[in-house]
Amino acid sequence: MAVAPSPKADAGASALDAYAAPFWDALKRDELRLPKCAACGHVQFPIGACCSDCLGTAFDWPLLSGRGQLWSYIVYHHAFSPAFADKLPYNVAVVRLDEGPQLITNIVDIPLDALANGLRVRAVFDHADPVRSLLRFEPDPDAGAAPAPLQETRT
Ligand code: ZN
Repeated sequence: MAVAPSPKADAGASALDAYAAPFWDALKRDELRLPKCAACGHVQFPIGACCSDCLGTAFDWPLLSGRGQLWSYIVYHHAFSPAFADKLPYNVAVVRLDEGPQLITNIVDIPLDALANGLRVRAVFDHADPVRSLLRFEPDPDAGAAPAPLQETRT
């Protein structure tokens, strides 16, 4: 069933948080869901009020595979915020989901020198923050050891 976005009027929440509430709620249940345009089928990210392909405003929120490829990454050796000082060195990565969208995230449970573009990854759900669960990725244990060629996908 397609539903139009209906931002909640939570005090302190931004309009984008309201549109993305199903995404954040799904992460708490160890599910990856993104809006899929009811008009054209485009899986949308970043999440917003309308489809970036057709401007449709009704979305389904299908359960996605949680699998994709490491598209790009960088390893930080300097903390630009004190909040990250105890995490050095750490990676910031772009993962392209098999359904098409690209997300900025971290790859966990892998030595930094083993990161390679094309690495098959799967979603893991970080519940360390009691307010908001975070989406991260780990090497996909069902994939082969060698990184796969980067695959262009578009939905
Ligand atoms: Zn659309």
